[in-house]
Amino acid sequence: MPDNKYDVTIIGSGPGGYVAAIRCAQLGMRTALIEKYSTLGGTCLNVGCIPSKALLDSTEHVQKAKSEFGEHGIKIGNIDIDFKQMIERKRGVVKQTVEGVSFLMKKNKVDVHQGVGSFKDKHTISIKPEKGKAREITTGKVIIATGSKPASLPFIEIDKKRIITSTEALELDKIPKSMVVIGGGIIGVEMGSVYARLGTTVQDWDRHQTVTQSQRSKGYRQTSHGESGRPERQRADFQSRVLPGGGRAETIYARIGSG
Ligand SMILES: Cc1cc2nc3c(=O)[nH]c(=O)nc-3n(C[C@H](O)[C@H](O)[C@H](O)COP(=O)(O)OP(=O)(O)OC[C@H]3O[C@@H](n4cnc5c(N)ncnc54)[C@H](O)[C@@H]3O)c2cc1C
Repeated sequence: MPDNKYDVTIIGSGPGGYVAAIRCAQLGMRTALIEKYSTLGGTCLNVGCIPSKALLDSTEHVQKAKSEFGEHGIKIGNIDIDFKQMIERKRGVVKQTVEGVSFLMKKNKVDVHQGVGSFKDKHTISIKPEKGKAREITTGKVIIATGSKPASLPFIEIDKKRIITSTEALELDKIPKSMVVIGGGIIGVEMGSVYARLGTTVQDWDRHQTVTQSQRSKGYRQTSHGESGRPERQRADFQSRVLPGGGRAETIYARIGSG
């Protein structure tokens, strides 16, 4: 078979794509995997599940040191958080995991092509790398596993500095004094928890009251819209507020940085 001819091509190397690639190769198909970024693993490994869990792991130690060690008779005095080191460790965890995926591609003889994949026709895929000319491969079948991006909101411009997504929240250079998290789903609660444990005053805003259930189980409290003008002071280290019906927003200010 010519070098650029494949039985199957997978576009996107997240958990959907790389697992499909391994399986196709194991079933004897000549397999290509196209990824636009320089590292494999997609959102999950690079800016999702893995780094968020690495930070949750680190901040759980902080939380325990703050509130549980005393009960065990362990006295540690003031806790000094080296946030840069925490982020560096997270990067190390990500690096190790994405390298694991590259290893699996080699082991299973999946050809990895770096670049943006797009259809020229139903059997021809063009791959445009970050630098240099596009090249083409031909393929019998294609699996599109291009994943998702953080959603934006019509009333907010994500400038990636003050208004950020979960991706930037995984790479802040300072612990913010305060933060509003819009969205009380798993990602919002996880990122909110990381910073609340580090001392950030965190409010989580969501238009659905349902988040209360998951948050309550973690000891969080939610302030319903209209119930109180501002979040109540509570024992919980994380507060949440329900956005007005239909998700229409109020103006929300959050301070990122040390000032
Ligand atoms: C902060 C955070 C925490 C999360 N935690 C969890 C968790 O704990 N558990 C869990 O199950 N899920 C979690 N998720 C969700 C999880 O990351 C996604 O469900 C998962 O990554 C989806 O996998 P995927 O393969 O469909 O897509 P993705 O992982 O998004 O991968 C798609 C890939 O396709 C590439 N791509 C897109 N278009 C092209 C193109 N034209 N050419 C080449 N490449 C392209 C992208 O660069 C990307 O690498 C989390 C997400 C976030 C953001």
